[in-house]
Amino acid sequence: MAPDAFAPGACVALAPLRGNVGRTVFIDAGHGGPDPGALGTTASGQPLNEKSVTLAVALTAARMLRLHGYRVVLSRNADNSVTRLTGADLYQRALSIRGAHAELLARVRCADLAGASVLVSVHFDAFSDSTVTGATTVYDPDRPFAGRNHALAKLLQRDIVGALAADGWRVEDRGIGTDVNAGGPALGVQGASYGHLLILGPAAPGYLARPTTMPGAVVEPLFITNPAEASIAASTAGQTAIAAGIVAATTQFVRGSR
Ligand SMILES: [Zn+2]
Repeated sequence: MAPDAFAPGACVALAPLRGNVGRTVFIDAGHGGPDPGALGTTASGQPLNEKSVTLAVALTAARMLRLHGYRVVLSRNADNSVTRLTGADLYQRALSIRGAHAELLARVRCADLAGASVLVSVHFDAFSDSTVTGATTVYDPDRPFAGRNHALAKLLQRDIVGALAADGWRVEDRGIGTDVNAGGPALGVQGASYGHLLILGPAAPGYLARPTTMPGAVVEPLFITNPAEASIAASTAGQTAIAAGIVAATTQFVRGSR
């Protein structure tokens, strides 16, 4: 959508496949390319990168939404970064702090160029204690549309937990929250003092010139550091359930905000 700013193939607009409700949903598959996100292991010992699971969920949700008549913009639809990376964006083949910041700015820019009614950023949770489990959804309370962020987060949390339960996975409902450490890469001292997730948060001079302009939330449906939940995350059925929850919530949200 702005070819000079984005990596090849990043920030892609996908037309509706059936009908056309005239609305756009922006879906961000967390991490990608040199940033694997969190690392987990399934119950059968299969290693799992967060970036591959977020992509699978985003692609499935995008297809479902397009079949419901929505245009979808994806920050990425393959295993790549969203920003066009330069040497300074990498450190020992991983994203540098500068690169992680540039990467999130590119996702914010893509969301705003999309003209989307709603933003969903897909991540998975991780913790040093592998017994920790559950689903959570993060929103930002410090935006002009904070009430709608809160409403969206509640819908996403309810519908993702519900969709998993309907398929037999009773995932702990950890509720919605405003945890600024959720979902993102480490952004250093400046990121810590910003006090928001870049994809959801307000403008900050010298750090985020233009924030996202639509209600949004970061979903974290499972802990991929828990083997049982990593197995759900790695399965097509689990990914489809999470995507269905995202689609149920976003379509209800968009219909309710006409
Ligand atoms: Zn993440």
